[in-house]
Order: sequence, then structure tokens, then C-alpha cells
Amino acid sequence: MLAENLKNVSDTIQAALAKRTEKKETGDTVCLVAVTKNHPATVIPEIQSLGVGNVGENRVQEAREKQEQIGHPGKWHLIGHLQTNKAKQAVELFDLIESADSEHLLRALEKESAKLNKVTDVLLQINVAREPQKTGFLPEEYEAVLEKLDGLSHIRVRGVMVIAPNTPDEALIHEVFRKGYEYFCGLKKLRKNIDYLSMGMSGDYAIAVEEGANIVRVGTALFGPRDYSNRGY
Ligand SMILES: *Cc1c(COP(=O)(O)O)cnc(C)c1O
Repeated sequence: MLAENLKNVSDTIQAALAKRTEKKETGDTVCLVAVTKNHPATVIPEIQSLGVGNVGENRVQEAREKQEQIGHPGKWHLIGHLQTNKAKQAVELFDLIESADSEHLLRALEKESAKLNKVTDVLLQINVAREPQKTGFLPEEYEAVLEKLDGLSHIRVRGVMVIAPNTPDEALIHEVFRKGYEYFCGLKKLRKNIDYLSMGMSGDYAIAVEEGANIVRVGTALFGPRDYSNRGY
């Protein structure tokens, strides 16, 4: 079942790549992040044995409990909002923090990374559709933030993360992801090491890939619906 779901997702990604009408600055391969939140830790070695090495979790505590069980195989992406007081743990547990959404948080990540003598890769989450319930930088904010971060040597901005509005309006989703790609290109002109554009979840990753995403974060389409009643995962 998992293998079959993975094949469907991979085929959908390939079909979406084929639909691109221009060459993208994000390249022509896509990294699939298997979003394992609210699923048991055992699904991680399972999906990794099928060749998917990147996993996404949205909560520090859940990721820590899973790593206590299975270690730290592959690359771990933090995809959920992070409270500043959990920056230390996040820096220890994750390889890429996709959801860097405030200057305050970025400074906390710098401080904790410095203590561990490591450089933490981050993506700037941009609230493209300006949804009040979502975190992230507004499109006009991120350049100024980038300048303020220039002196910081323990975090490295690697790109942009976008979450589209939850809507059946596909034209709107295309528009949001197209803008996300434009912000990525803008960032790439300004700084080195800008490589990643993370956009798209189970409902919209095909559109995201078509518009230029090179990271997609897929949970439900691989593992089925999450069971939120089972808080022990
Ligand atoms: C949960 C989550 C996903 C995966 O969602 P699915 O719809 O299950 O694929 C992707 N990105 C973020 C930020 C998430 O919180």
C-alpha cells in the first residue's frame, strides 16, 4: 500500500514536471519530503527503505520522541511553526528548518546553533496569500530581514517555503505558487546558497511542481489520513 502510494506520488511529480512550460531556476528534480507527523515512528524506516530519505515533522516534541525510538536516519525537516523557546531542541533535531517565520526566531536559531558550533540551514516561510491565520514573512518584509541577518554566521538561508491557501480554487493556488517562485528567484539574485523552494502538500503538490517547487511536503497521499485522536501517534 505504501509502495503503491509512493509510486502514484512519484508519477504525479513526473507528470507535473512534464507540464512545465519554461525552464525553472529550481532545476528539474524534486525532493519528496515524507510528512510523518501523527503517524508512528515505524513509518520512517519503512518509507526510507523505499528510497525516500527526507522526513517532515511539525512538532519538536514529536520529532524528539521518534528520534529516541529510531535514531536520526536521513534528513529531518521542520515544517511547523516553532516557538523561540524550542529553538535549542529544533537545532539539535532537524537538518533543515523550513518554517523560519520571524526575525526573533531566526536570532534564537543563530544563538543556539552558535552554542553547538554548527550552521543551521533554514528556509524563509513567506505568507504569500497574506492569510491572517498563517505565520510567515509578508512578501515585502523578507528582503529587509535578510539584510539584518547578514552578520549571523550560524544560520544559512537556503530558500523559501510557501503554504498555499486551503481552497478548491486551482487558479488561486497557481497564482500563489507562481509568486512563491518569483520570491525564490528574487532571493537567489540577492544571496548565495539559495537552492530550495518548498511548496505543495497532498492536495496541491502537482500544481506546486508545475510552478517550480523543488521540495514537496506530502503526508496524506503517502500514509493516508492522520488519526488525531491517537495522541501517542
Ligand atoms: C501537515 C503538513 C504537510 C502535509 O500535509 P498533507 O496534506 O498530509 O500532505 C505539509 N506541509 C505542512 C507545513 C504541514 O503542516
